[in-house]
Amino acid sequence: MKIVFFGTAGAIQSKDNANVSFSVVEKKLSILVDSSGNPVQYLKRVGIDPKKLDILILTHSHTDHIYAVPSLIHNLWLMKRKKPLNIISNQFTINKAKELCNVFSLFSKESLFLISWVSADDREINVSPMIKIQLFPVLHSIPTSGVKIITSTSSLVYSSDTSPSKEVISRARGVKALIHEASGTLNLEEKLNKTGHSSGRQAGEVAKKARVEFLFLCHFDFREGSVQDKVKLEVKNSFQGKVIVPELFRFYEV
Ligand SMILES: [Zn+2]
Ligand SMILES: [Zn+2]
Repeated sequence: MKIVFFGTAGAIQSKDNANVSFSVVEKKLSILVDSSGNPVQYLKRVGIDPKKLDILILTHSHTDHIYAVPSLIHNLWLMKRKKPLNIISNQFTINKAKELCNVFSLFSKESLFLISWVSADDREINVSPMIKIQLFPVLHSIPTSGVKIITSTSSLVYSSDTSPSKEVISRARGVKALIHEASGTLNLEEKLNKTGHSSGRQAGEVAKKARVEFLFLCHFDFREGSVQDKVKLEVKNSFQGKVIVPELFRFYEV
């Protein structure tokens, strides 16, 4: 399984970092997780054909996670995509994403490819005999889904935006890679938790309890400068596995 990040910034973009979104590629199957920034450009840049993208997973309907859904659909329509697109999310987010698309009347475009909206608040979807996707609730200020992707050779859990969650620990137990948000440092922990986010220390604790091999960090708040290095140091105090601050547009094999 390969993971490639297009942005690791939290809600506020920085000079050279976009809001969190990433792709997961397993053999010929490609998945985009959350839609912000310029998704078609991102996919092209890493060699994923946007017309062949199989699945879009939306974790929740905060602006930084879904604002580019209409742009993605509009681009794919203009590119004359024929392949159906599966959009997997919780029902609350699906409703919001549809509202967003309706602002631009996208569903009345002539010959629009089929969009299959898959509602999965807390269940497993068999994408193929080799790949399963589970969504599960996490602790954020609106209905938000964590994501687990299981293939025959690897497994991955993404926390999405959440304060420290037992559900993330239990779903991530024994998986190879955990992508966990780390919206700030220890000194901001109380404030972060109140708004449904986690500190670096807490992301490290989750990874330690779940005994994962790799911990990818994201959703950094760059208002304080290059916080990712401070956050990584904090994580390393509790988690002994491999901690990765993802380089954008680089494939990581897990
Ligand atoms: Zn966010
Ligand atoms: Zn959020």
